[in-house]
Amino acid sequence: MFGSFQIARPYGIPLKLHWTLVLFLPYIALRLTRGMGIDSTFWGWVVALGLFLSVALHEFGHALVARGRGYPVRDIVLTPIGGVAFLSRIPRNPNDELIIAIAGPLVSVALWIGFLLLAPLISSLNMPNFAMSVLFLGYINASLVIFNLLPCFPMDGGRIFRAWQSKRVGRLKATQRAVTLGKFFATLFAIVGIFYNLFLVIIAFMMWQMAAAEYRVVQMQERPRQNPFSGFVDPLSIFRGQPPPPVHNRRKLLMLKSARRPTKSERRAQRTETPVMR
Ligand SMILES: [Zn+2]
Repeated sequence: MFGSFQIARPYGIPLKLHWTLVLFLPYIALRLTRGMGIDSTFWGWVVALGLFLSVALHEFGHALVARGRGYPVRDIVLTPIGGVAFLSRIPRNPNDELIIAIAGPLVSVALWIGFLLLAPLISSLNMPNFAMSVLFLGYINASLVIFNLLPCFPMDGGRIFRAWQSKRVGRLKATQRAVTLGKFFATLFAIVGIFYNLFLVIIAFMMWQMAAAEYRVVQMQERPRQNPFSGFVDPLSIFRGQPPPPVHNRRKLLMLKSARRPTKSERRAQRTETPVMR
């Protein structure tokens, strides 16, 4: 992602920060300090850093499972509005997509339970600010799980929904349904965000854009598959008045089809492809 720089390389996957996060981190730390109702900014910073570490671990959950299933991971970028794992490509196999999408929230569930179990232990050692911070990180991870599992494509819940629908109605129709649902949630977030939190408006806008972009890519990938004769007409069949050639000629036709130059809209869709997990 433009404007991001690498801070570490765990498991050989570059972990990057977007410069805007560096700018926003003091603001987030300050807001967290107030939100927790404690007077030490230090603990606000601890929770802010813990929050982004939690997001990074969520993304590593996606990334490591993706890599294990044969989808190389380019990098993970942390931004003020969340993390993004850039995969080499979006899995077309619904089972792969399902497992990769579920891995991130599972990590967050583990962190949620871990922090909630840790908080009373620290509290018993008479460290109230530390205990409060750990408890808060537990709540943050809980909200990460809930937010990510909402069925709003291209968030994790939306991907799980698409994978489930793909098995029933095919990938193109499933994506169409997931995108419609995603746009509905994006609109809802934007409306709520206007009144409560402008971050939500930015997230909604990005969700809308990414959902639309991915739909264009899937349209491009799936249309030729569903109709192998689209975009190619055997010139001789016109003279002969024949129907499209039989099955044994399909491979040849597909080869010809794949050799043709992509159209303008296809090239645009290729450029806007967003192979990401959030
Ligand atoms: Zn995720």
